[in-house]
Amino acid sequence: MTSVKELGGEFALIDLIARTLGKSKDKSVVAGIGDDTAVVDFDEKHYMLLTVDMLVEGDHFSRKWSTAKQIGMKAMEINVSDIAAMGGFPKYALVSISLPEYVTVEYVKEMYSGMKSIAKKHNFSIIGGNTTHGEKLVIDVVVIGLVEKERLCLRSNAKVGDLICVTGNLGKSTAGLETLKAGLKGNVKDHLEPECRLKEARIISKHANAMIDVSDGLASEVKHICEMSQTGATVEKKKIPISRNTFNLAGKLKKDAYDFALHGGEDFELVFTIPKNKLKKIKTKCPITVVGKITSKKQGVWLVDGKLENHKTKPAKTTKQNRKQKTPLGGGYDHFKQF
Ligand SMILES: [Mg+2]
Repeated sequence: MTSVKELGGEFALIDLIARTLGKSKDKSVVAGIGDDTAVVDFDEKHYMLLTVDMLVEGDHFSRKWSTAKQIGMKAMEINVSDIAAMGGFPKYALVSISLPEYVTVEYVKEMYSGMKSIAKKHNFSIIGGNTTHGEKLVIDVVVIGLVEKERLCLRSNAKVGDLICVTGNLGKSTAGLETLKAGLKGNVKDHLEPECRLKEARIISKHANAMIDVSDGLASEVKHICEMSQTGATVEKKKIPISRNTFNLAGKLKKDAYDFALHGGEDFELVFTIPKNKLKKIKTKCPITVVGKITSKKQGVWLVDGKLENHKTKPAKTTKQNRKQKTPLGGGYDHFKQF
């Protein structure tokens, strides 16, 4: 018998499931397992996007510091984030909940009012679901969306030479979570009420090649894009956008804010790749930061600490002196690590 940890963790498990199921023979399936959502043909102009994400008490949220409303909001927002990562917009949601005895009716009502507020914010409808009894509070949300065919942003579409960009700031959710766990004071709103980038995604998807949302840390998301697109990448550590609040919280915790950004989870920002000449078209409309570049597969996937290259010149040669500053990019939040 093999444990998931022995298999290699969450992504090895997803790979095993995908291989067990095999590819769908249905011609209407455009993308199955392996992207932020599944993609199926819908009508002449649109693809349909389907995604599901589960929150388990103790693993994804704690009733110690999140209110019922915040838990409901998060359950919905993280699914919308996956729809955003494909370039689309949400239309419908279904919600299944498993309730332990200690959860009251008033609590359930608050959770659903949180979900409803997110549906209202992003203009979609919650139209069904399922309820059951269980030992832990579990919320499982399905969101169905649409995307204009020309705007679909798959993880597999990054091109050599593309710039790697991110929206907003990274590391903020993990900084908040670690602060709460340590019992310290500070601004932890980004952890308790994460906001996805649907509005920005609708602008970006007109011009980007590949896109993914940041649910498991920047390192892991860039690696996913590279694996699916058969490319390499260079990410410049010092260019990763991190807010002053995150640096402050990391300082209090005596931890590295860059580690939160690279390997933490649940920022729900977007990472996308875009040809350099299209960057101007979105830069004025939403806050983005260029953090690196897509390279050929044989060049590998690297995190560069220090000024080895800039985007106006050719990549600098790897010398003895600067080799130390390059580290392979990898690792991310893995739900099975703790087992
Ligand atoms: Mg995702």
